[in-house]
Formats: sequence, C-alpha cells, structure tokens
Amino acid sequence: MSQEVVTPRIRGFIATNAHPDGCAANVRQQIEVAESDLPGAGLDNVLVVGSSTGYGLASAISACFGYHAKTLGVCFERPSTEDRGASAGWYNLAEAHRAAAEQGRTLETINGDAFSADVKAQTLDALRSRFGKVDVLIYSLAAPRREDPDGEVWNSVLKPIGAPHTSKTVDLRNATVEEQTFDPADDDEIEATRRVMGGDDWADWVEALQDADLLADGFRTVAYSYIGPAVTRQLYRSGTIGRAKEHLEATGNDLSAGLAERHDGGAWVSVNKAVVTQASAAIPGVPLYLGILTKTLTARGLDESPIEQIVRLFADHIGPGTSPQVDAAGRIRLDDREMLPEVQDLVSDVWDEVTTESLEALADFSGYQRAFRQLFGFEVDGVDYDAATETHRELA
Ligand code: NAD
Repeated sequence: MSQEVVTPRIRGFIATNAHPDGCAANVRQQIEVAESDLPGAGLDNVLVVGSSTGYGLASAISACFGYHAKTLGVCFERPSTEDRGASAGWYNLAEAHRAAAEQGRTLETINGDAFSADVKAQTLDALRSRFGKVDVLIYSLAAPRREDPDGEVWNSVLKPIGAPHTSKTVDLRNATVEEQTFDPADDDEIEATRRVMGGDDWADWVEALQDADLLADGFRTVAYSYIGPAVTRQLYRSGTIGRAKEHLEATGNDLSAGLAERHDGGAWVSVNKAVVTQASAAIPGVPLYLGILTKTLTARGLDESPIEQIVRLFADHIGPGTSPQVDAAGRIRLDDREMLPEVQDLVSDVWDEVTTESLEALADFSGYQRAFRQLFGFEVDGVDYDAATETHRELA
C-alpha cells in the first residue's frame, strides 16, 4: 500500500508525476463517449500501437468499449512501484483495464519498446494464443527515439529544413510570448527523424502480422498524421517532422495496394486535428496555436477532443460497413473543422496580434494549461486532491 496526497510536479512541458484518480476520471469520461456513440459490436480483434495516451488511448477505448473488440495495446510507460508513482499513461491503462474487467471485455497491454523485435514477438504470441486475426491496426506512436535491432539509435528533432526560422512561441513556465529562432536540420537529422516518425516501423508491424498469418479478411490499418496551419508550417509540416509524416503517408499508399489484393483491406493515414497531448506540447509554437485554435473552434461549437475525433474516425471511415472518405492525396481528414478557411483566417490574425499581455484574452491560454495538467490527472472535476490515494496501481 502506498497512500499519498499527490501534488503536481510539472515544469514547462515536462511532468514527472501524475494523479491516479484524475487519470481514471479522464478515462471513464472517454469510455462514456465511446459507449454512447459507437455500436457495441462489429470488430473482433484490434491492435493499437501507442495505446496509453492521446490519440492511441482514444483508439483503444473506442475499440474495446465502443465495439467490444478484444483489444491489445502496446505502449512505453513507467509502472508504479511501492515507492514511486506511475506515469499518466500507466494510470490511464490501469483504469481502462479495470473497467474492461468489470464489464467482461478483453483489454491487454504489452509495455515495452514498440520498435524492438522482442515487443513485436510478444505481441504476435499474445495475438496467436489469446486473440486471433486482427481486424484493425492503429499505429499511434509519438516517440523521440528509435533503437534498431542492430543497436543503432536514431533521435528525432524538431527543426526547419533549408533555412533558419523565427517563430512566435509561448514559454509554458511563465506564459510569456516570445520569438525563438530555430536552426535548420542537417541531412543526418532529417534522416534520423524519418527513421523514428516515418513509416518504416508501421510497415514492419504490418509485415510481421502478415508473416504470422494474423491479418483478418478486410484488415484495415490507420496511422495518424498532422498537417496544421500556415503559422507552424516552417517548423512542422515543412520541417523534419513533416518530412517524416510525408514518408508515413507514402508508406500507407505502398501498404494499401498489397493489403487490398491479398486481404481485401487497406492502409490509410488519418490527418487528425491538433489536440493537447504530451507529444504536441513539446512542439514549439503548437501550445500557442492550440490556445488560439481551441478558443476559435469552441466559439463555433466545432471543437473536438481526441475521443470525439476517434469515434468519428471509426463511425465514418474505418468501422464495419464504412468506406474511408479521402482527400486527393488519399488521406482521411479529421482536421476538416480545424482547417476551415474562416477558422484559419481568424487564427492567423490573432497569431499576428497576440502578445504576453493579450495572451489570456485572445488565446485562452489558461484553458490550454488546464488541459495540459489534466493529461496528468490534475485539475480534473470531481477528484478530491486533498485526499491520500493509492499510487501503486496494477493493470488488471
Ligand atoms: P502521445 O504522446 O499522447 O502518445 C504517444 C504514445 O506512444 C503513448 O502511448 C506512448 O506510450 C507511446 N510510445 C512512445 N514511444 C514508444 C515506444 N518506443 N514504444 C511503444 N510505445 C511508445 O501522442 P499523440 O499526440 O497522441 O500522438 C500520436 C500520433 O498522433 C502521432 O503520430 C502524432 O503525430 C499524431 N497526431 C497528433 C496530433 C496532436 O495534436 N497531438 C495531431 C494529429 C496527429
């Protein structure tokens, strides 16, 4: 037993602890949305790579509680011990596992490095022995590094390509708007980022499942991408990460042809909207953009959370009985509301105008900060933060 009053330890975009009850409340809220908006049947086995937070967690919850699929997740989280609390992703899954067990559903997690041969082998073993052929594979990794089986390590970087770029950013420690200049990446950094966040590992997962005869007829796989606005373009979409995302998108097209022929299935990239996650908080400019965007979308009744986005993905594009609706480049576009011209015009005007003094009025920055703390289970409605709580949680 490790009863503790848990107070936030957060600096900038780094949080070193999480509140188990706050994380549990977040997960229960997502389960409610999946249960109320999805049919409760129709998929047998779903694999989610990157299943513990953000878009991957929403995908695992949609599969398990929205379709009652047997759901296997892969993630890289810090479990709790008697002496130390867990990461937010671990607490999220502790609640998702608990709820699944309570309802008689199957949710399992393999916690380890998804790039490794060992974790792929463990996943195939689990699928063979306790699941069956996979209907849907969601690939939702956001990783800073990749170690190849031969020990070579690749580190991803967030840099512009070609020339230095100066962008407005907000310092999350003191809510100050400032200009920051980013040096361009060299060729090795561009390649390293592609190795981590491009499509190679997604293709390896599909190949591993195929070689093990674990692809169901009609198998569909989706990886998540982002495009975003003009104001973050030099740093994001035209920068190193954007280059990696282009590779991910090209990989989807390559995979799709073989999957259509052999399994009557397909591979797609879904371009999702910007949301507050651990990964997006680390991208310069994105927290400021999200503060402005959320205010703009909320005022029009158009804002969506990760679970609402993923419910829409399954219900309209990849769930049973649907056909993915795609843009000219073959991508599913869940960012359609974010990218509406009237939304983007307004966001870009505010972006030019915003200063430290007008940050709160123009961008609802405290809303962004609250959403960020909620990722770690803090400032969640209905949680008693003065009470000691059990910090050692197992995955049921
Ligand atoms: P996130 O940080 O919330 O989640 C990342 C997940 O990857 C976690 O489950 C984590 O445990 C897992 N992970 C990281 N390294 C791993 C490893 N080596 N092995 C196993 N698991 C590992 O991120 P997110 O924002 O939900 O991003 C997921 C995907 O969605 C990314 O491809 C991202 O580009 C895309 N996306 C994000 C946004 C956004 O605004 N957040 C928008 C559009 C698309």
